[in-house]
Amino acid sequence: MTTTTKTKLQTIDAQHHIHPFTDSGDLVKKGTRVIERAEGVYLYDSEGNKILDGMAGLWCVNIGYGRQELIDAATEQMQQLPYYNSFFQCTTPPTIELAELLSELAPDHLNHVFFTGSGSESNDTMLRLARHYWACKGKPNKQVIIARKNAYHGSTVAGASLSGMTVMHKQGALPIAGIEHINQPYWFGEGFDEDPNEFGLRVARELEEKILELGEDNVAAFIAEPVQGAGGVVIPPESYWPEIQRICDQYEILLVSDEVICGFGRTGKWFGCDYFGTKPDLMPIAKGISSGYLPIGGVLISDEVAETLKNSGDEFYHGFTYSGHPTAAAVATANIKVLRDEGIVERVDQEIAPYFSEKLQQLASHPIVGEVRTLGLLAAIELMQDKEQHLFFEDKGAVGTRCRDISVTNGLVMRGVGSTMVMSPPLVITKEEIDLLYERVLKTLDDTA
Ligand code: PLP
Repeated sequence: MTTTTKTKLQTIDAQHHIHPFTDSGDLVKKGTRVIERAEGVYLYDSEGNKILDGMAGLWCVNIGYGRQELIDAATEQMQQLPYYNSFFQCTTPPTIELAELLSELAPDHLNHVFFTGSGSESNDTMLRLARHYWACKGKPNKQVIIARKNAYHGSTVAGASLSGMTVMHKQGALPIAGIEHINQPYWFGEGFDEDPNEFGLRVARELEEKILELGEDNVAAFIAEPVQGAGGVVIPPESYWPEIQRICDQYEILLVSDEVICGFGRTGKWFGCDYFGTKPDLMPIAKGISSGYLPIGGVLISDEVAETLKNSGDEFYHGFTYSGHPTAAAVATANIKVLRDEGIVERVDQEIAPYFSEKLQQLASHPIVGEVRTLGLLAAIELMQDKEQHLFFEDKGAVGTRCRDISVTNGLVMRGVGSTMVMSPPLVITKEEIDLLYERVLKTLDDTA
């Protein structure tokens, strides 16, 4: 897109719309891509391009675009009751139905949910809930939340503070007090000389060191994504999660599994914690809960934490106008039923993820590819300047720009994180569509080499 080819819509957009995570100056020069409609795994833009969505929107359109069941659920609910709140001892039938469905799907001990409107709000809620829980337990000093460098937990003040991305902390004087960051289990980038499982153990034990440094009586929770998504699809070595679980149990620290990306089938299991066998106390969710059709999120809460709140004799002074929004809840329920009744998660696990992995692993021998990582329908391709010397691609910004430019990718949306290309296609992608995705990634690599 150049200035001369900008359409009227793009010009108006550049004049009036400040976009998230976008250089506004760049927007004025180059214009936006205006996506007008979508079907299955394909997007259609205002310039007539048909684009394969290798990111499922923003890691969220798990059931693909255009599902009538969700449209019907929204229409019927809007006719019946478009909105009512769940404050002050009120609720609505779709909110109740979704709460029950989530408790059936989640691990056995997670039978409660606090609804929010997004993943960021879920993490804000998690932070207040974790601290409030310990106060209710008579341990008010347990306040610090330990998170990881390079993690992404959202863009609200608490979400961005929990996130470990230093560029985000530079703006708005973050992080807020009481948040600490330890290293991520990024073996290929930060532990390549070590055995992966030894590296996994070493990095997990940074949690123990941090707890000992702060004093266990001051630490409320540890939060991490099962697989770090926006940070570059960082898949931990096998040794990592069991050690984290041991440490949280030993020092009485709440384990928070941020399932905003990994939840609802992305890993081939319903939740990332099912994949890694962890037992989180709190689980922020969003994105795939409604496949992005309407904004909704929540925090799944363990029986122990919920019982403590119920017995505290006090209110939890927290909530959003749209907590438990009935239309969003109806759409989320319809989405989960599609995932469940069509066996989409099992199909990812048994058929599609193995094919996705096998196909993308063929790229590992490409001259500029250092490593291909996949888990479920998450993928990362590490671009190298020099494979022998383990030198990463130099112009890191260029990777992101190329991944977003469909004239480079031949009509595929990917994302660049540093020198890593990442993907997270809709869970309904077929093997033929994976073949097409593969061809387009290969062409992008060839043109980048
Ligand atoms: N947590 C994780 C792991 C995420 O990936 C994201 C968004 O990408 C969030 C939280 C924030 O979610 P939202 O953008 O819905 O606020």
